[in-house]
Amino acid sequence: MRPEILFPLYAPITSLKGVGPRVAPLLDKLAGPIVRDVLFLKPHSVVRRTPATISAAIDGEVMTFQVTIESFQAPRGPQPWRVRVFDETGFMTLVFFGSFGSQLEQRHPVNARRVISGKVEDQGYGWQMVHPDYMLAPEKASEIPELEPVYPATAGLPARTVRRFVQEALQRAPELPEWQDAAWAARERFPTWREALGRLHDPESDADISLQAPHYRRLAYDELLAQQLAMAQRKAERRREAAAKIPASTVAEAIRADLPFAFTGAQTRALGEIRHDFALGERMSRLIQGDVGSGKTVVAMCAMADVAAAGGQTALMAPTEILARQHFETISGPLTAHGIAVVLLTGRDKGAARAEKLRALASGAIQVAVGTHALFQDEVAFHRLELAVIDEQHRFGVAERQRLQAKGQGTHFLAMSATPIPRTLELTVYGDLDVSKIDEKPPGRTPVATRAAPMGRIGEVEARLREAVAGGAQAFWICPLVSESELVDLKAAETRAEELKATIGPSVGLIHGKMAPAAKDAVMADFADGRLSVLVATTVVEVGVNVPNATIMVIEQAERFGLAQLHQLRGRVGRGRRESACVLLYDPPLSETAQKRLDILRRTDDGFLIAETDLELRGGGDALGLRQSGFPDYVFADPFAHRDLIAAAGDDARLIVGRDPALTSERGKALRILEELFDWKAGLGLRDAG
Ligand code: ADP
Ligand code: MG
Repeated sequence: MRPEILFPLYAPITSLKGVGPRVAPLLDKLAGPIVRDVLFLKPHSVVRRTPATISAAIDGEVMTFQVTIESFQAPRGPQPWRVRVFDETGFMTLVFFGSFGSQLEQRHPVNARRVISGKVEDQGYGWQMVHPDYMLAPEKASEIPELEPVYPATAGLPARTVRRFVQEALQRAPELPEWQDAAWAARERFPTWREALGRLHDPESDADISLQAPHYRRLAYDELLAQQLAMAQRKAERRREAAAKIPASTVAEAIRADLPFAFTGAQTRALGEIRHDFALGERMSRLIQGDVGSGKTVVAMCAMADVAAAGGQTALMAPTEILARQHFETISGPLTAHGIAVVLLTGRDKGAARAEKLRALASGAIQVAVGTHALFQDEVAFHRLELAVIDEQHRFGVAERQRLQAKGQGTHFLAMSATPIPRTLELTVYGDLDVSKIDEKPPGRTPVATRAAPMGRIGEVEARLREAVAGGAQAFWICPLVSESELVDLKAAETRAEELKATIGPSVGLIHGKMAPAAKDAVMADFADGRLSVLVATTVVEVGVNVPNATIMVIEQAERFGLAQLHQLRGRVGRGRRESACVLLYDPPLSETAQKRLDILRRTDDGFLIAETDLELRGGGDALGLRQSGFPDYVFADPFAHRDLIAAAGDDARLIVGRDPALTSERGKALRILEELFDWKAGLGLRDAG
């Protein structure tokens, strides 16, 4: 039930003055459907309306002048109205397009004093101002803000009209009960929620424009707390759901002992954490995070063996068929060797063969199903699904993940991710999961020698590649998607593939996003089986794809990629014992930041460190990479500027849920209003593990 106090904010935007059938869709597009969304529109910049005399005008600046009307010049033909004005230092012409000239003369008669504000320009005919933003009698001059926030605009809806709507939304905003902890709010000098919004929309000084201004930090913290609280509650709710108790099994230990390698310390720890969850009789929701090749899948495999030994079934779902098949190949040998039946189920399974697989899953004859989206389809039923393992979970929708888990009761949930997230942002993405980190590589991997080279040296790179291929090596060659048009990019990749064919020979293949999945798989299989020696790819080679013999990775226009992505791409090589190399080709000149970013890759192989440094170097500016890794689309909170607040909000949320899980205390009630205000429950979508 939505608290009554929020009703004015949940009114449709059409309840705002001036928002009719024409404007509503535009404003909806900019802000959203309700008054709250308009209130939460964030100014993207602030103009300063510096008061000045005409002689002190600066071309192109927004300024405010106190003038007297001298004369009107009616247009001849399709020309604008011109109004000549002056102050004690000079003259200026105001220019008005449109046919309201006579009104103009009535409203601003000759000799009247006016305060005008707008952009002044000198295009060689003296100072002029086209359509002043303000033109008011001196006694009304206080209506002109010295600092005026500028809002996003869209065709047909100028920024200043948007500002008017925002101001009205602000009028409607009620004082809300305080949900912040009093001591914390005092320490942070937080104004009340309403005051904070007031400052956002009517800044009083330069200091008010900073992301670190107390009022802005408050809004960011409110948003973070709302989200963290929703996540902490989800997590607590899931914990309260009963789930099968699954003991550690001897069969899992036997499988582990049979592996041709010993677990790393981090793998042992991760398995231990899963088993701890399994023993509780509560639903597990855990994420195993670790670089590609760090050994996540084999850890999950041992957990599956425990589940099977206790009579349960596991579904392992991967976002692509290639990945599903690789997982199947990794785990089916060790599991079947110990009597645990594994099946691969993808979109390719048809007819009788598919029916047979489905029957075996429904009857419980098969304990582990590995697959793609095919797994959560309605026809797929399990006898006793107790564990859902989802690889790269952010590539699936919540509904999809839930559909899979709903095939069992109190299904334990285990996610695997190779997407490195800066430590400071982890809470925002995985706040509702327990995280096991595999931050240790299996021994014997040789670090990938990483070099950056300007595009001008591509000839040398190709020559070396030819030699390496002649010696039996395999290589990835990545052409990024950079232009607006995928077709243009595709052409570039085709050209590159042709060129490499000419220098290297017929064993050069091409894979790209426009290919049908089956065709992609076929090319990928040719590469994996060594029939192709060089694989040119436009799309990012699927995360997790394992081709141990590939030892060379060439990335064109490396400066265009996010660091985390480069790191993941590089992770595709260096998986065997042979020396591997990664060449980052760039278009010179590199900016200093770009240079630094490529340098980090040369210096370290630690995905977490790389992600953290990337965030620092970008200053949180480029959110794209972050969003790709599941970072929420916050209104106020900035991933970099407010990283201290992220941690604080996480702690705060945990404490609240620990002390007052049903939010019944005074503060708890206020917090419920906060949650409604930000809608994180509804919006939890992307981040929710299910
Ligand atoms: P991830 O799922 O993290 O990408 P996998 O579990 O698929 O990693 O392991 C990648 C490869 O490394 C597999 O061939 C696996 O057999 C091997 N591997 C896993 N753990 C170890 C280890 N501790 N020592 C040596 N090799 C390992
Ligand atoms: Mg993997």
